[in-house]
Amino acid sequence: MSLRSVFFAFFIFLSTLLWAWGPTGHRVVGYVAQKHLTSKTAKKVDAILTSYSLEMCGNYLDFIRSDTQYRHMNAWHYVSIPDGKTYAECDHKSAGDVIQIIEKLVQELKTKEFSIVENEEFAIMALVHLVGDLHQPLHVGLEEDRGGNSVSVNWFGKKTNLHRIWDKELIDHLQLSYTELGNHINRNITKSQIALWQRSTVREWAQESQNLRTACYDFEKDTNLGYSYSFRHTQTMQIRLEQAGVRLAGLLNEIYN
Ligand SMILES: [Zn+2]
Repeated sequence: MSLRSVFFAFFIFLSTLLWAWGPTGHRVVGYVAQKHLTSKTAKKVDAILTSYSLEMCGNYLDFIRSDTQYRHMNAWHYVSIPDGKTYAECDHKSAGDVIQIIEKLVQELKTKEFSIVENEEFAIMALVHLVGDLHQPLHVGLEEDRGGNSVSVNWFGKKTNLHRIWDKELIDHLQLSYTELGNHINRNITKSQIALWQRSTVREWAQESQNLRTACYDFEKDTNLGYSYSFRHTQTMQIRLEQAGVRLAGLLNEIYN
């Protein structure tokens, strides 16, 4: 293999790796969270976020991905857990994973001593992003297919991969703005549901994603995905975005109230 083709293969590999809900998904999570903040928390968060609103800041961790000084953060967006195992039974990566980093960010936001990111604003932006990611079932993925990134499928005839369908295509297929989708999924939420979701732990959110991920592979041999796949999974995608928003608000309220 020539050096040039090695570079080319590496570029293709990088370009097929995705680490996050697409832009709309992260905005929905921030938008829903905003609706569930106490007024005290909302004021404090707003004062800390200088460059972006809570709705818009969730994509920051993707914006900086190409900057080499942040490359070590690529490991933060996901966790790999084999079928039939729990997170506690796995070796935890020293580079960090989405569970470790969320727990660390919450701790640092409480103590105001920042070691893994440079300041409080960055910590909030990273938290918005990663609580979202953790709720995408394929971000608690199988190492052997890189959370579905290695699973080639077609989406309405266009070549893509399973991970990307969950990050982006299922959401974009609805053709709603982030405020429209956020209002839709948040419309019937009850106080008891909010309390129940916010009571659970980061590790339980990961376990939920792990439990949900098997169903993401329900297309068997027919890899031409479209209306039927969307019909089967849109509800799950919407619940996961709503849960992520509600729980993010719970964390922020706990930190700033
Ligand atoms: Zn991500």
